[in-house]
Amino acid sequence: MFGLIGHLTSLEHAQSVARELGYPEYADQGLDFWCSAPPQIVDTIKVTSATGQQIEGRYVESCFLPEMLATRRIKAATRKIINAMAHAQKNGINITALGGFSSIIFENFNLNQIQQVRNIKLEFDRFTTGNTHTAYIICRQVEQASQQVGINLSKATVAVCGATGDIGSAVCRWLNSRADVADLLLVARNPDRLQLLQEELGRGKILPLEEALPQADIVVWVASMPKGVEIDYQKLKQPCLMIDGGYPKNMAKQIQQPGVHILNGGIVEHSLDIDWKIMSIVNMDVPARQLFACFAESMLLEFEKLYTNFSWGRNQITLEKMDLIGQVSVKHGFRPLLTVGS
Ligand code: NDP
Repeated sequence: MFGLIGHLTSLEHAQSVARELGYPEYADQGLDFWCSAPPQIVDTIKVTSATGQQIEGRYVESCFLPEMLATRRIKAATRKIINAMAHAQKNGINITALGGFSSIIFENFNLNQIQQVRNIKLEFDRFTTGNTHTAYIICRQVEQASQQVGINLSKATVAVCGATGDIGSAVCRWLNSRADVADLLLVARNPDRLQLLQEELGRGKILPLEEALPQADIVVWVASMPKGVEIDYQKLKQPCLMIDGGYPKNMAKQIQQPGVHILNGGIVEHSLDIDWKIMSIVNMDVPARQLFACFAESMLLEFEKLYTNFSWGRNQITLEKMDLIGQVSVKHGFRPLLTVGS
């Protein structure tokens, strides 16, 4: 059995979901309530592969909200993730993806040092961040969506916002050696990590966001921002392809601007309907078919009986692993989302 640990994007989102699901008493509660809420299994999932194989999974709602980080409720945030992992393991799930901020919190706060959660000894090889599949899907989206909107990749400048992150660095590695891109702009805050990445790649210009955006034909957003940033769309190139892989979204608004094409990044479409409720709760456009690539990674590992933490740690995603997960992704009927809005 596979599992997915997820969370909602904001307190407002959590309150509206509670109302929608018929829990009005939860809908009126503030952040403190969510800080003390325990993890819950809220969905049972059945997935059929393009090969005909069927698997079953569980969705674990961690009750983490990004506002916990923004308001420095770090203890609550870390407890949410560790408790959700223990809950998944206690329920016999073999391989569970740590969706959205779950893996970021796990890494940033060194949660691998906490192994004992009450009577459960966490077995980390039952978990995966899902970042290898996410990075692979974003790279395929760069390659395929650029063609769709008439951007020639070999002449394009690609800015990666969150370049030094786990997903961002893998995307940079891929663009550097698998795709023929004209220029690579590296955006993040920590200068030392940017320097190290530039040395590893042997190329790339380090630029602040406001300087990178007007130069970019394609922007890949994979920064771990608890809240999106406001962008002056007037200053962007036309055409410009913006691939937003963040959860919550890195861009504050989806603006209607001619020539600016926006694509939901790190999202896959399955070739068959999936029997679940959770993707409508997170407002996916086609909830029966579309899902986060990290969640799909745990499904792929279950299909392949690869019970291992395929994606783990920081900045260790190799091109070989991206190829491997990419092959099984295609085999089981997943493809990158390519519906571009503008
Ligand atoms: P990491 O924490 O590993 O990396 C985040 C990157 O963003 C770092 O380079 C960090 O560098 C940079 N960053 C953070 N804040 C800012 C900022 N304000 N301005 C510029 N750069 C910033 O995160 P991951 O790679 O694991 O995840 C990235 C995003 O992808 C997250 O939003 C996550 O929720 C989402 N995600 C989506 C998935 C999907 O299936 N679609 C799956 C998994 C994750 P620095 O701190 O130096 O600025």
